[in-house]
Amino acid sequence: CGIVGMVGGDLTIKKLVDALRKLEYRGYDSAGIAFRTNEGLRVEKSAGKIDVLESHLGNMMSTGVLQGMAHTRWATHGEPSDFNAHPHTDCTGKIAVVHNGIIENFDELRTALESNGHIFKSSTDTEVIAHLIEDHYRGDLITALRHTLVDLEGAYAIGVMHQDHPDIIVAARKGSPLVIGATQGGGFMASDVTPLLKYLRDVHFMEDGELAVIKTGNVQILKLDGTPKVKAPTRITWSE
Ligand code: GLU
Repeated sequence: CGIVGMVGGDLTIKKLVDALRKLEYRGYDSAGIAFRTNEGLRVEKSAGKIDVLESHLGNMMSTGVLQGMAHTRWATHGEPSDFNAHPHTDCTGKIAVVHNGIIENFDELRTALESNGHIFKSSTDTEVIAHLIEDHYRGDLITALRHTLVDLEGAYAIGVMHQDHPDIIVAARKGSPLVIGATQGGGFMASDVTPLLKYLRDVHFMEDGELAVIKTGNVQILKLDGTPKVKAPTRITWSE
């Protein structure tokens, strides 16, 4: 039940896993990570503790990556298992999605997607999001996410990466918390502010109905209709 995402700077897989550990208190049954190296997008995930994930990752922990998202899952649809752990991917394997919350209408969305040829790899509600983004994608990731949200009913904090966009993470929120921010050292998102305090002080607590493009140096917040929202960040004065 936690999300972290980072892009840019001197990012390593270890930084993402360490940040994820700061969300362990929220409770979870599985953990996973998507990361982008020069070779492409890769996903590692497993049922169980973050320690299990970390031992899977082994000596990859110190690998430098361009972007990454990590997730702890509290299963709502689909048993806790390696396949059902997040991140979830589309058919091409280029799109990775992490999600906290529940997609209420996933059953009908899945049926429609399957009849259009999409092959599912998990029994989660979340996986429909990756396939919908694949369907809506025409080269612009935030537009694809925006069109996907129109299809979704339920509650969510969502983070998305695309292999062709290694410099951004896009995010959306409705009913589940998500905090975002950026410095010259990178772009960041998390379910709460604790994993981020090591990296930045000025954050945006996303509101329901907002989307964001997160990158090194700035975050851009948009409304569902795609118009930009200008907002002052909140300065966090307390320390870790
Ligand atoms: N509903 C999703 C699942 O069961 C996300 C659960 C969560 O918030 O961790 O996979």
